Amino acid sequence: MKLPRGMFILERGWLSSNNVVFIGAERTAIVDTGYCTHGEQTLALVRRLLGERPLDAIYNTHLHSDHCGGNAILQEHYPALRTHVPAAEFPRVHHWARMKTSFEATGQQCEPFRADEPVRAGDVILLADLEWQAMCAPGHHPYSYLLFNRRHGILISADALWEKGFGVVFPALDSPGGFRETRATLDMIDDLQPKIVIPGHGRPFSDVRQALKEAYSRIAYLEADPIRNAQNGIKVLLKFLLMERQRIKLTEVPQLLSGIPLVAAANRHYMHYGAIHLAHWAITQLQRVGALAVEGDMLVNVERR
Ligand SMILES: [Zn+2]
Repeated sequence: MKLPRGMFILERGWLSSNNVVFIGAERTAIVDTGYCTHGEQTLALVRRLLGERPLDAIYNTHLHSDHCGGNAILQEHYPALRTHVPAAEFPRVHHWARMKTSFEATGQQCEPFRADEPVRAGDVILLADLEWQAMCAPGHHPYSYLLFNRRHGILISADALWEKGFGVVFPALDSPGGFRETRATLDMIDDLQPKIVIPGHGRPFSDVRQALKEAYSRIAYLEADPIRNAQNGIKVLLKFLLMERQRIKLTEVPQLLSGIPLVAAANRHYMHYGAIHLAHWAITQLQRVGALAVEGDMLVNVERR
């Protein structure tokens, strides 16, 4: 896939989001920084690309722990860099206790970082000497934005559109809503007619028509019965926990899983299972698709291929 000069994609996994690094004449930047436990790896990858040049800016498409978890280590290593976050989240980052609650809601962690500049819809951002327009993309996250370069038709889509589907519609886990916004964001992407999409997870792709087709059919499927989104969210949050820890004692799963506030809320709204029943259900589901294995008394992560 041919990218404009000065633009580099660091394709990561599912625990860490992809990172897009820009090296321009004026400044360098990174879009999204991965999960905190991969911080050292993120820093090493960035340093390898930048060499002696400093990193001048971070842009977080949204403040999920797998997209901003590398902010702290990058800020520490490059003290002069400016960190740009969605405008609606900007005040919250300055009250870390409130920010912390949002990470704890998913059972995830994030080291405290600093925010220097808000990103608003319509902002035009210069990255690798190209103009990128920031666009609101609610659905998966109410305050996520996308970045679009019209000249090359490249869209950085975060978790609003992947090659197959999109991120969990988190707002719909414990209340109605979120689906309409997800669909509106897909409509917006459709209107842009991007030639290349760089998703938050997975490889970049150019068959955007096919990806949109799958995303529309998925949103229709979830909307038809919101329990499907809740079930997916619970499975994703258990899988994330397992990707982070790699091994979890089976007897600890019920308490760990039901201890995640968003899981508890989704369960309370849609499923009404006891903690042991819920853990058993989620393990069986993930085992069936090969996302985890049970070895003796341990739950073991199986990497996606
Ligand atoms: Zn996300």
